[in-house]
Amino acid sequence: MASKLKDLPQIQHLLSQPLISVLINRYSHTETVSALRNIMNLLRVRILANTDLNFPDFASSEFAAQVSEAIQTGRTSSLKSVVNATGIIIHTNLGRVRMAPEAIRAMQKIGADPSNLELDLETGKRGSRHAHVEGLICELTGAEAAVVVNNCSAAVLLSLMATAGGRSVVASRGELIEIGGSFRLPDVIVQSGAKLREVGATNKTRLSDYADAIDGDTAVLLKSHTSNFKIVGFTSAPTRKDLAHLAREKDVILMEDLGSGVLIDLSPYGLIDEPVVSDILKAGVDLVMFSGDKLLGGPQAGIIAGRADIIANLKSHPLMRAVRIDKLSLAALEATLLLYRAPFDPISDVPVLQMLSEPLQNVQKRAEALAKALLLLGIGSIAVKESVAYVGGGTLPEQDLDSFVVSVCLPELTAEALTSALRHSETPIIGRIEREHVLLDMRTVHDRELPLIIEAFEKISSG
Ligand SMILES: *Cc1c(COP(=O)(O)O)cnc(C)c1O
Repeated sequence: MASKLKDLPQIQHLLSQPLISVLINRYSHTETVSALRNIMNLLRVRILANTDLNFPDFASSEFAAQVSEAIQTGRTSSLKSVVNATGIIIHTNLGRVRMAPEAIRAMQKIGADPSNLELDLETGKRGSRHAHVEGLICELTGAEAAVVVNNCSAAVLLSLMATAGGRSVVASRGELIEIGGSFRLPDVIVQSGAKLREVGATNKTRLSDYADAIDGDTAVLLKSHTSNFKIVGFTSAPTRKDLAHLAREKDVILMEDLGSGVLIDLSPYGLIDEPVVSDILKAGVDLVMFSGDKLLGGPQAGIIAGRADIIANLKSHPLMRAVRIDKLSLAALEATLLLYRAPFDPISDVPVLQMLSEPLQNVQKRAEALAKALLLLGIGSIAVKESVAYVGGGTLPEQDLDSFVVSVCLPELTAEALTSALRHSETPIIGRIEREHVLLDMRTVHDRELPLIIEAFEKISSG
């Protein structure tokens, strides 16, 4: 066996073959070497497993074709679309939300051509990129002014820097959240140059706790939406109205990190915990920040809306340029916000809202259609089962959505091996495992994605 391994040709030798030189010229030296290495490593593994293995003819056109294919595989993009069959609608690892066709078209147009991103077409002078969406955000939230940055984390950081740098920020111990990816509110407050003054207890904070903590050094009262966990039982917190009243009286700014932030009331769809941005501003909160790519249903962005004098300070802050939104996201955001206005209806035109409000019987029909097609393949046991889906993305942690899954169990593959094979499909399919079964949740899958899933199973079952 050892001697057989020694018989494998050197990469240098292969590179000098005429058919391989053609590949070097067509692609590149680096890619050809890397493809040859991968193929030779695979051969080594095969030899170790099977000493009788015959070598391919390294000078043949078949071998050159194999190398060419390996180079092309290496050229497919790393970032690709996948099928989200997890049942988590806003899945941060899977790129959060699908965007509406209107938003995609806007990105295509603004990406392909020059635009008036920072040109005022009226005067011919330099304009502001913020101007393109400010009016719309104000119209949809009732805010006096608004500005948009890269994401909600940047929105929180910039807002704190511009209002509280060097002074103190009062926040409830029950709201000092970690969002994930090392974004912890107490750390962000410190990074902004402000001093954190914690008040109350994890489960209870009273208005008097805030009032007692405010002194001459206080600049901001910070509320945050405890969006990815819930404290239940013996809890209380002052209302926004009471906090707003206190902030006015003491001449400090009341700010709220909303995280998701919805523009319309979702309670008719059973989602009662998510506060609507316009209600929060109406209650007297001076400044709110929320994400563009959570329940809003648009691109990654951080929206800051509220008092005009504060927004003006943010716009001229030195950090603004470092966290500003790019033109593609801005184009997609404007197009998404327009879907909240007549003649559109966000519930049917914004994909994330459409998905979470989709009638259960439609989800069931989709599950039955997939199960039927998979049964025809005769690959193993297939069943449709009731299940729960989640909004995800750090929103509405308590709120389940009724859903249906297709449960799959193949005789010759463990659930672990099947999820891995599905992940390695041409369009990766992402599901979950429960009690040795692979579950594909149909609330987060589109009808048009069913053929991709069926094709993946066809390939897996045919080896
Ligand atoms: C998600 C979230 C953020 C972070 O938003 P990004 O847009 O991902 O930066 C901040 N605060 C809260 C409360 C969140 O839920």
